[in-house]
Amino acid sequence: MSKDKLHADIEWRDDGQPLSRAFDDIYFSSSSSPQEGLEESRYVFLQQNRLPERWAELPKGAVFTIGETGFGTGLNFLAAWQLWLDTAPTSARLHFISVEKYPLHSADLQRALDLWPQLQPLAGQLLRDYPPLLAAGVHRLHFERICLTLVIGEASAALRSLCLEDERSDRLVDAWFLDGFAPAKNPAMWTPELFGNMAALSKPGATFATFTCAGLVKRGLKDAGFGLEKVPGYGRKREMLRGVLEKTGPAEITSTPWHLPDSESDRGQRPLLQPVPPLVGAVRPGAVRPGAAAGREPSSQQTIAVIGAGISGATAARALAERGRKVRVFEQGPEPGSGASGNDQGILYAKLSPKPGPNGDFNLHALLFALRYYRNYCADAAHFCGLLQLAQSDKERELQRQVAAWLDFHRAGELARAVDAVEAGRIAGLPLDFGGLYFPSAGWLEPQKVCATLLRHENIELHCNTAIEELQQRENGWLLKTCRSGRSRPDRSRPDRSRPDRSYIDNEEFSADAVVVCTANGMTQFAQTSPLPLRPIRGQVSSAAAGQQSQKLETVLCGEGYLAPAFHGRHTFGATFKLKETQTELRESEHRENLANLAELLPQIAGEFSTGPMQGRAAVRAATPDYLPVTGPVPDWESLNNTYAALGKNRKQLIAQTADYQRNLFVLGGLGSRGFTYAPLTAEVLTAWLCGEVMPVSCDLVKALHPARFAIRALGKKKGN
Ligand code: SAM
Repeated sequence: MSKDKLHADIEWRDDGQPLSRAFDDIYFSSSSSPQEGLEESRYVFLQQNRLPERWAELPKGAVFTIGETGFGTGLNFLAAWQLWLDTAPTSARLHFISVEKYPLHSADLQRALDLWPQLQPLAGQLLRDYPPLLAAGVHRLHFERICLTLVIGEASAALRSLCLEDERSDRLVDAWFLDGFAPAKNPAMWTPELFGNMAALSKPGATFATFTCAGLVKRGLKDAGFGLEKVPGYGRKREMLRGVLEKTGPAEITSTPWHLPDSESDRGQRPLLQPVPPLVGAVRPGAVRPGAAAGREPSSQQTIAVIGAGISGATAARALAERGRKVRVFEQGPEPGSGASGNDQGILYAKLSPKPGPNGDFNLHALLFALRYYRNYCADAAHFCGLLQLAQSDKERELQRQVAAWLDFHRAGELARAVDAVEAGRIAGLPLDFGGLYFPSAGWLEPQKVCATLLRHENIELHCNTAIEELQQRENGWLLKTCRSGRSRPDRSRPDRSRPDRSYIDNEEFSADAVVVCTANGMTQFAQTSPLPLRPIRGQVSSAAAGQQSQKLETVLCGEGYLAPAFHGRHTFGATFKLKETQTELRESEHRENLANLAELLPQIAGEFSTGPMQGRAAVRAATPDYLPVTGPVPDWESLNNTYAALGKNRKQLIAQTADYQRNLFVLGGLGSRGFTYAPLTAEVLTAWLCGEVMPVSCDLVKALHPARFAIRALGKKKGN
């Protein structure tokens, strides 16, 4: 395999160590002992970045971020993870960003990591979650207090893809591990662009360490603003380099930065919860001392209100709570998952595409993330029985052929593979007329149980039967005006407690430092979020008692509609798709529509179902015009229109200002009919906005999900373009 191929081509040496054939270089120590490799990693990267000392001093709730070039076998990551567990406060979080152009296949990774029994069980956890490496892109993996952002791609471009082009929110990294094969063997990686992108992502005072002292590395780092120091290398190696970022230049704006939170507006609308270091004007050459930026200031004292306890609200609340934020969730229904997330069975489904582009990329990464997520957080509400995406038309067959070839090329059969009708029938437990794509690790979820499980966390306070009617921005946060209703008054101190059966309505007010609106179509109800172009889609699912044939079904089937395996003696199937309809009454006509769709897929089962009584549920989902979710900070709509008005004349105009944002107001929605697949990763993006963390997706995807995108596109479509 040549350097042009996508994966590491490993030769296993006689001493059991991996060597890259493409680069003719070793992954770790030149010694024949793997133990030396681990010790060298600890000496060069952990000690020379002074991590033991810096981590021991971290304040409670701090976040520390490491950036690495060349993930390789993950040895450095595991060594850092182990040290973190030994030295950092239990409330602190480690973010480890690593870029890798030629990822190892999981079998090679397993073989390499078997060399260090002392890194178990961490290595086992990494192997379990290591993603099928389909394509360039950002993969986010969570290991409790440790968060790994693995970017598959060429080092410099991969780092660039994490830059929002915002000096404040790009400055994330506290320490760099400059690994990668030796400059003599791999000069293409050690470029001025790489060092420049490192500097752009560094906090003031960020440190670096690298095993090499090559001239091009020294020059590149120095030009990018790093101060250098030569220190003795590990073992018999004479010297290595370490240093500190001393100078930073202003970020170069190369694209219209409409996706950025505002920074220097007169009204001082810097997002309160984005704990970014003071930058513009505050970072002067020489002003930064080594180790000055040891970690983010914890902001766990702040309260975040999440409106809506469907899957978007539940995933958002959980992600924030895991970061130590205090979260209050407000739900107008009597329990979590009362709206569109309340069906008996929800499927984990995504539409893969071999073509690069935001929809295909997001679907792939959202599915991969969701599969890991539900296994970690709510395994007892998830049924990973596999899913067959059946091709019922020539067009779909052709699309699936391309997807299958792409999956094959990347040896990603563990995610999905093509199966013919015979094999599909064998997997499903029922004869099928169609082949398709088989996703062995997908399946279906119990939606309400998932929402309730996610919301069970010490940092989450859940208020049901509480409809937020109005949001008011205050000096220091937000006021939420509620309408609480129910059959029995929950506040026992009130005078009419003797009449618990009477229905009541209370008006209450809550305050919060920040608000996240997760109310699907309800987003358009608030003045602040009403310009978002969310479209209601009514969907009715049907449910029928399992019959002799249908109860044999072992996997989820998807085609024009879907059918889930029997659960408590019933199957859910559907769903209808009625754009712009908002009624939720059950319709006989839509049961018939669901049955007719099922009959195309499985006539015998549709026949079985049509003889018995049908139940079902209708709900309204919200979708965006481009069918991607919407998440991020909410613009000040007037400021946005003014700032980007020039796009009305020339939609490619570079506009170097940012619009104002409504301070500490965020949204998460537009999940359409793929809520359970899309929500976990979308919530992760939202959390990165709120907590000032590295994004879990590329910045192109951040833009593709951004709340401002529709208004910006509308400006660009004005006459004259
Ligand atoms: N840090 C690794 C570990 O702990 O196992 C070892 C890294 S190994 C010495 C160098 C890695 O850099 C290889 O995995 C290689 O594929 C990767 N690499 C080489 N050139 C690259 C480039 N231009 N962009 C990104 N990664 C690159």
